Amino acid sequence: MDKKNAWSFEDKNIIMNFCDIYMDYLNNSKTERTCVNYSKQLAEQHGFVDINTLATLTAGQKVYKLNRGKNIILAIIGKDDITNGTNIVASHIDSPRLDAKPVPFYEDSNMTLMKTHYYGGIKKYQWTAIPLSIIGVIAKSDGTVLNINIGEDEKDPKFTVTDLLPHLAQDQMSKKVSEFLTGEDLNLLVGSIPANCEKDKFKQNILNIIEDKYGITESDFISAELEIVPSFKACSVGFDSSLVGSYGHDDRVCAFTSLEAIFETENPERTCICFLSDKEEVGSMGNTGMKSRFFENFIAELIFKTKNEYNDMYIRYALTNSMCLSSDVSAAVDPTYKNVTEDNNAAHLGCGIAICKYTGSRGKSSTSDANAEYVGKIRKIFDDANVIWQICELGKVDQGGGGTVAQYIANLDVDTIDCGVPLLSMHAPFEIASKADIYSAYKAYKAFYVSK
Ligand code: MN
Ligand code: MN
Repeated sequence: MDKKNAWSFEDKNIIMNFCDIYMDYLNNSKTERTCVNYSKQLAEQHGFVDINTLATLTAGQKVYKLNRGKNIILAIIGKDDITNGTNIVASHIDSPRLDAKPVPFYEDSNMTLMKTHYYGGIKKYQWTAIPLSIIGVIAKSDGTVLNINIGEDEKDPKFTVTDLLPHLAQDQMSKKVSEFLTGEDLNLLVGSIPANCEKDKFKQNILNIIEDKYGITESDFISAELEIVPSFKACSVGFDSSLVGSYGHDDRVCAFTSLEAIFETENPERTCICFLSDKEEVGSMGNTGMKSRFFENFIAELIFKTKNEYNDMYIRYALTNSMCLSSDVSAAVDPTYKNVTEDNNAAHLGCGIAICKYTGSRGKSSTSDANAEYVGKIRKIFDDANVIWQICELGKVDQGGGGTVAQYIANLDVDTIDCGVPLLSMHAPFEIASKADIYSAYKAYKAFYVSK
């Protein structure tokens, strides 16, 4: 089946300008918390208000709700009764990274280091010898919460995980790649000046600096969430600037495009929902993951505030009649690693948003596998709106696999299908996406929001 290349059908300048805005979004959204804050600012600029401040809702109204600073969900109330269903685009805004341990600091060989615990599926060696930032919060026991962001400003110092020089790596290089670096080897270099004291002088100097600057002590790191992420900014890649290289495309590329799509939507027939979820990279667990009741509670709140009454059947009808795009990235064919994909059923860079009927692994295990009728409906919605799209699966059969939030939404009795932007170097500190595919994702979500 011949695929269309999106560059041949869309205006190049529009694509380039759209992706300039996306790169700004990425640079302001390196963690799920900063992504939520920035998305909330954009939402407010586009007329969305905090649902907690409203007692009732009417058609056309735009609202958002935050969940513990790590999820944001937006909705535009449709003209149609909400029990007839909603159009949901759900993505995730957590990305693989290193997290600081609760007791992080130690000193060794005249240096201070921090212990980390990696988050999500990473190739550990990719996280050494690159500049890293520390972004997150420290909650003191008196209730104050400090925002930490070191390494993002040009003038800030950065941090790094050191790697072994090739000259002395004979033993290391003979090991399997999965074994030569352990999780406990991912130690962050954070200082090397001694304090004027007897014991632990290198560690103490860093603790002194932190106490002077933030008024926090070593024990405050127990109640902290400090994420260690690549310091480099998103940028164009290629002589033709056709690609975006960045940390965290997975899955902020779908978050951004679905946000832009809902921002462009006015007075829809059906209620439109844009959900930016957390914890996808670790199984969607916990009260900020897709498995949380937060999503269902939000729909219940929409029902209660639009109808001014509530009974449980309303939410059951609303969910049964809803449809969802689980918008998450897919793997694009990599010319250097073509052997892991089956060409007819793989996503190709530049050929538009990739629809994935099922994900999972080993015989479609752990996937929701969208039903044929729903796939047909989505094809028509995209074709009618001149969206460039392609069908794909994630790699060859039994080559590996992966999952998304799709199954958890489908479990709520919602028609759900995966679709998103194909990537190269997924989960690496520097991932690659085609600007044309990013633009087609935006067009696809926009068409989906106004469909019936
Ligand atoms: Mn993802
Ligand atoms: Mn991922």
